[in-house]
Amino acid sequence: MRFYERFQRLPIRSKLLAMVLLPLVVVLPLLGLLLLVWGNVALDRLLITKVRSDLAVAQGYFERVLGEVGSSTAAMADSQALHRALGDSAAAPVDPGVWVALLQAFKAREGLDFINLRAPDGTLLVTDFGAAPATDRRSPAFSAATTATVGVRPHASVEVLQPDELARLAPALQDRVVVPLVSTRNAAPTDRTQEDRAMVVLATAPVRDERGTLRGHVQAGVLLNRNLPFIDHINEIVYPEGALPFGSRGTATLFLDDVRISTNVRLFGDDPKNRAIGTRVSQAVRDTVLGGGQPWLDRAFVVNDWYVSGYLPLADGAGRRVGMLYVGYLERPFTWLKYGVLLSIGVIFFAVMIGATVVSLRWARSIFKPLEQMARTMQQVEAGKLDARVGAVGHHPDEIGRLAAHLDHLLDVIDDKTRALQRWGDELDRKVVERTHDLEQAQAQLLRSEKLATVGQLTASIAHEVNNPIAVIQGNLDLLRELLGPQTAAKVDAELRLVDEQIERMRLIVTQLLQFARPNEYAGYVDSVHASRALDDSLLLVGPQLARTRIAVQRDEQATASAAINRQELQQVLLNLLINALHAMPDSGTLALRTRDWHAADGRVQGVQIDVADSGPGLGPELESRLFQPFVTTKTDGTGLGLWISRSLIERYGGTLTARNRDDGPSGAVFSVRLYSEPPAATLPA
Ligand code: ADP
Repeated sequence: MRFYERFQRLPIRSKLLAMVLLPLVVVLPLLGLLLLVWGNVALDRLLITKVRSDLAVAQGYFERVLGEVGSSTAAMADSQALHRALGDSAAAPVDPGVWVALLQAFKAREGLDFINLRAPDGTLLVTDFGAAPATDRRSPAFSAATTATVGVRPHASVEVLQPDELARLAPALQDRVVVPLVSTRNAAPTDRTQEDRAMVVLATAPVRDERGTLRGHVQAGVLLNRNLPFIDHINEIVYPEGALPFGSRGTATLFLDDVRISTNVRLFGDDPKNRAIGTRVSQAVRDTVLGGGQPWLDRAFVVNDWYVSGYLPLADGAGRRVGMLYVGYLERPFTWLKYGVLLSIGVIFFAVMIGATVVSLRWARSIFKPLEQMARTMQQVEAGKLDARVGAVGHHPDEIGRLAAHLDHLLDVIDDKTRALQRWGDELDRKVVERTHDLEQAQAQLLRSEKLATVGQLTASIAHEVNNPIAVIQGNLDLLRELLGPQTAAKVDAELRLVDEQIERMRLIVTQLLQFARPNEYAGYVDSVHASRALDDSLLLVGPQLARTRIAVQRDEQATASAAINRQELQQVLLNLLINALHAMPDSGTLALRTRDWHAADGRVQGVQIDVADSGPGLGPELESRLFQPFVTTKTDGTGLGLWISRSLIERYGGTLTARNRDDGPSGAVFSVRLYSEPPAATLPA
């Protein structure tokens, strides 16, 4: 469970690697093991099969030697020379010297080790070294050998001769016979110290005359003890040069009983003289081959090394198992081969593992590159780099590639939405600033309105207070004029008129101040006034003054909206502007009256604008800035209150009154009144 949890926490790349390598780790060693076991069995079979056929070849050669010895013996028995030497004599040898020469010649020609002539009853007559002494004439070797004669053709057999017997037949060979036993590992325990018996290939052929009468027997043999050419020849036939791969070495051996009497197995090193003659076969082999009569085909420890071995039992003419024929070859090179193959499999296994690891790592990298790119992109986006994108992740997008494309799309959408939100936020901020500004303006307006209201009240009370003294002065002046009488009065007429004028001027100021202070009779309600109507009414009032001049009136009225203002107050403002224009053009000129809709910033109509333009001298630069301050006048009988009062009235309704010089050709001033159709709440008259 803990392993599983730990596995779950691994990065995907490692998991994938484990997925790829796990089958390899499990399957490859299994495969290797299978190959090893199977290969081992197959190799062993192959080796055994080979040694079996080797043994068959050796056996074939051995049989041929037996046949050859048999043939040679038969040829001797049939030879003219033998028959001549026998002559007519029944059995008695003619001259031993003649026989010895004859037999030796045969022995040398046929490559035999010994040869002798026997009587028809088997009695030894003469050997190749002389006539047999009478005491030694009966030989058990004869009866044994004759039984081996197969069919008509004489056939040699393997026989074991006791030392005394060999001494009778071939005393010269005795030196070769004796084999001292060498103690050998795994051999059956024995008390013997030497092998003194001779193993021979022995053949006996009958000698018959023309009439078919048996005249005797020729017996010949080859000694196998220490017969090195014979064993080397077998080895050469079975294992010719280059027959064994990997430097393995072939060996052949003849056993008398379990003792090596002729072999090419070396005892120490490679010295040819050190042949392992006298060593013995292992007990296991001995029991199977000599004891059980079965061939041995298996690996066996031969003298000092392991050999793939084949042992064949050898039986004498009577069918007794007397020895063994062995061939085999060194197993070690094949073992090395086996280990080599095993090592190669191991090396290949590791190479494949490493290769698979590298390839799957590369592969995993290419698969997870898009994922890592996505993770990186997300980090960048989180860090504020909003335009970071995964981008193209390969020519043929798989699921991950498509996921990356989806992510990019998602990021695009989020980016768009974020920008839209930002835009909205900015707009909201701007609107808040705008509205705040409006509010501030409204507050300032309100403050001004309140101030004006206070000033108005003050002005009204002062005007009232001033009105009474003026009335008293005027009354007393009239009384003074009556009291003086016409003559006297005429003398101070100029002074009295000046006082009159100044009283009139004071009355005018008070009247105007009262208008501004909006006495009760003006305190009307807010009308929806049409600019053209207001202009009509005002023109009517200045009609007499206009008539005295040559002033042309141009009217251009396009306003559709109306102005929210008290009708009388608008009329008073327009009247002021018209009178000022007439004053600016005493004789002649053009009076241009214009109305337009007043548009807000967003294009909607929010009110009306009325322009009053004249062709007079215009406004001097010094005057332009002070125009709307109270008591600023250039006229001798002016009060300087007209424009100040007019602006105050218009501003009470949130509107504006501005002045500038004309820029459309002729000289002159333009006064513009702007009024809302719906006055802002804060600017409603108190
Ligand atoms: P008043 O008319 O009693 O002088 P106003 O406040 O109406 O007081 O005008 C102030 C001054 O502005 C005037 O004395 C005059 O010099 C100047 N003015 C007003 N209207 C015009 C105009 N249309 N052209 C030139 N000057 C003008």
